[in-house]
Amino acid sequence: MPSSNGHSSNKSATPALRVIPLGGLHEIGKNTCVFEYGDDIMLVDAGLAFPSDGMHGVNVVMPDTSYLKENQKRIRGMIVTHGHEDHIGGISHHLKNFNIPVIYGPRLALSLLTGKMEEAGVMDRTVLQTIAPRDVVKVGQHFSVEFIRNTHSMADSFSLAITTPVGTVIFTGDFKFDHTPVDGETFDMARLAHHGEQGVLCLFSDSTNAEVPGFTPSERAVFPNLDRHIAQADGRVIITTFASSIHRVAMILELALKNGRKVGLLGRSMLNVIAKSRELGYMRAPDELFVPIKQIRDLPDRETLLLMTGSQGEPLAALSRISRGEHPQVQVKSTDTIIFSASPIPGNTISVVNTVDRLMMLGAKVVYGKGEGIHVSGHGCQEDQKLMLALTRPKFFVPVHGEHRMLQCHSKTAQSMGVPADNILIIDNGDVVELTADSIRKGDPVKAGIELLDASRNGIVDARVLKERQQLAEDGVITLLAAISTDGVMAAPPRVNLRGVVTTADARKLSLWAEREITWVLENRWKQLCRNTGGQAPDVDWVGVQREVELGLQRRLRRELQIEPLIICLVQPAPAGTPAYKGRADAEPDSRPAPRGRGGRDGGRDGGRDGGRGGNRAPQPSRELAAVGATAAVAAPAPAKASPAEVAAKAVPAPEPEIAGRTRRRRSAAAS
Ligand SMILES: [Zn+2]
Ligand SMILES: [Zn+2]
Repeated sequence: MPSSNGHSSNKSATPALRVIPLGGLHEIGKNTCVFEYGDDIMLVDAGLAFPSDGMHGVNVVMPDTSYLKENQKRIRGMIVTHGHEDHIGGISHHLKNFNIPVIYGPRLALSLLTGKMEEAGVMDRTVLQTIAPRDVVKVGQHFSVEFIRNTHSMADSFSLAITTPVGTVIFTGDFKFDHTPVDGETFDMARLAHHGEQGVLCLFSDSTNAEVPGFTPSERAVFPNLDRHIAQADGRVIITTFASSIHRVAMILELALKNGRKVGLLGRSMLNVIAKSRELGYMRAPDELFVPIKQIRDLPDRETLLLMTGSQGEPLAALSRISRGEHPQVQVKSTDTIIFSASPIPGNTISVVNTVDRLMMLGAKVVYGKGEGIHVSGHGCQEDQKLMLALTRPKFFVPVHGEHRMLQCHSKTAQSMGVPADNILIIDNGDVVELTADSIRKGDPVKAGIELLDASRNGIVDARVLKERQQLAEDGVITLLAAISTDGVMAAPPRVNLRGVVTTADARKLSLWAEREITWVLENRWKQLCRNTGGQAPDVDWVGVQREVELGLQRRLRRELQIEPLIICLVQPAPAGTPAYKGRADAEPDSRPAPRGRGGRDGGRDGGRDGGRGGNRAPQPSRELAAVGATAAVAAPAPAKASPAEVAAKAVPAPEPEIAGRTRRRRSAAAS
């Protein structure tokens, strides 16, 4: 609770420290944390996440950074804990959107970051400062940050001791306690204990493995098991792991050397990370160990080891392509031993097991799964988390870096160690942790969410675009071409086209429905959509007309057929005075116009339930539409206007509407 004596507001002599995670909570990925005191903002890490199913065409997920854009004048600098994508993958993107004057981080992480920044063309937007263990840097007026060496699956990783006017905060970063690390760089537990002794106000700790009892084994534990599998292999050995698991990769290279195998590397990130790590001395492997992938066929199978990306079943990664027989250089042989030295990140399990299945079907021996001892986590389990709590002895505790149940579990662990439940906050992205010397509370949240980037990493896929892609993927698309004269009459029957739509309704019915929507819009909405400016032709809001028709047809399809395809209506305006087309609705006794009324268009039946046949009675709109098409222009639904030539090409209709399930006709030469 905020103390009551003399503290009228946050503007008082000792304002609260505000800690705001914009990503990394209730999820694994895109860790991004804001520290704020007075006028200073300091960022800790800025990662990315990968899209989940249904995010069609999305390559990368970023946190919403509106808060940082709005407050960019106050950003004094950024701290990077280590070089994993979920901690540095967002930085080069953010540098295009807001200013970060300086970034402090470990050598390896900054080297990987440099590659990304060069690629994005943002090298000149900030200053990179490499730090060493136990370095202390000052950020703004109020923060000083000590880098404490920790152990993790990536080399050169750090926990942070952040000293602020209200006390010291320990931010663990990603960690486990590995007492025999591959690179010999042990966890600087003495510094953690030192801060614990001095008094830690709050601990923000990695929750990834909060549900798993025990200690996480040392990275070294996988060495003998990998060694055994490689030694036993009669043919080639193919190993996949995260390129960024530097220690694992270093061990695999060591084992290749030990077992007399040359190494071929596949996958861009694998090549990149190994090159950077060797350059900086994090991996020691002689040049002769590596063979270019084009020459790998010349080696005997027993002397070949292929190390590649694809451990998560990512569709474009090397191993996935090989499993589909789509890789230009490598085909699976029945004598291959393929080792998955990684476990699937939650959400990737299905693509991983599918890849395993495909490789097995090609006859290879596949080694995967928990029982094989070929993978250990880079994150501490419950006992590691307890050790962290024991060393730092925090007054307040906030579990971070994990999904909700992991945060809950980690909170229980802290309580079992004597941290009172009232001193623990479980928060979400955008929540504000307000800390004073003797209080912790949740402040008003800031805007947080996600930004989805497509392959270009510039194009933002907003919610509307994503919804359209989902509709396209799930229910297909219906295009509807309507001819309407500028004085508001339907000049020809609409032409309906289906792509990827599965429905029992035939073309005639869909065409009839479209016709009724148009008729309804003309009768009920025309006045609002058409402004008579007194000139020759009235000013018609064609985009509005299209939207009304789309909405109406969408509702009807949802109601009648339980499908939600994307509907695109194009109106071809015909000159005033074009004779009206006599709608079939009037001509056919069995098809009363559907009851209308926005919001409450419950539709009733319209006699169209004729068993889905009647394709032979499909309307023949071509002549009428072509007649008006020759002189009219199309108003496209998007602001972009089509050229008259395109319009003419599009306007000439096929002889009759196409329907799902029918053989798709090629557009006639005359139409293009
Ligand atoms: Zn990490
Ligand atoms: Zn992480």
